[in-house]
Amino acid sequence: MRIAAHGNNASRSDGPPQGIFAPEYADENNNYLAKCVLAWLTAHTADSPYVATQTQHLETVLRDAGVFQPREWEAMGLLRSGLTSCPLCMKHLRYSELHDQVSFADEASLLNAAEQVANATRSTVVNLFHMVPLTYSDVEHTSQNVAWGHAICNTKLGQRKCYPLSELISDGSKVGIVDQEGLISTFGWISKSLEMIRSPAGAVWIRIVEDHLSDEDQASLIEFLEIYRDE
Ligand SMILES: [Zn+2]
Repeated sequence: MRIAAHGNNASRSDGPPQGIFAPEYADENNNYLAKCVLAWLTAHTADSPYVATQTQHLETVLRDAGVFQPREWEAMGLLRSGLTSCPLCMKHLRYSELHDQVSFADEASLLNAAEQVANATRSTVVNLFHMVPLTYSDVEHTSQNVAWGHAICNTKLGQRKCYPLSELISDGSKVGIVDQEGLISTFGWISKSLEMIRSPAGAVWIRIVEDHLSDEDQASLIEFLEIYRDE
């Protein structure tokens, strides 16, 4: 237990360090099934040294728990055409990327990531990835929420949900560019929450700041910008 001091309550610290990031906590069963999914996905990476017959026992365990769902994994972007992929950028993952360290050039972009602890070892190219962000208030480290994804994609996503393309197509709206003549060319789908846009070719746009200007402020901003443009 690690509870920070709050108001009149002193901080509390009980038991030895567990060595895990607190929001990653899961009970034994969820943790075991999450590991089975990750092991199955490891065996299905590009260039994996494992063959399909070696994953049959994992499939049996997952099927028994009702969580062996390769079709859903394809729809969620964990798998693409039977090979493990990064749910954010949808690129196929290579087995070696689970072990290779990110380069120094890539490291700068990871410095603010929650999983990077100062002076700890460098991150691997591919990391544990959660489709729904982990919080202290919910148990989100479950077999239905884990995947392998690029450390850099994890950082870019931040504490946001990773909306799969399938969800944007079924629940979201098509988005396009309106040209001078009013012609619309669509290029992707946007989530209902307006947080993420995806193109079927793999590009991803994420909203990084929410709307916060009043109608009045917006009107005067647009008015200024139109005058500025015409000058
Ligand atoms: Zn990626």
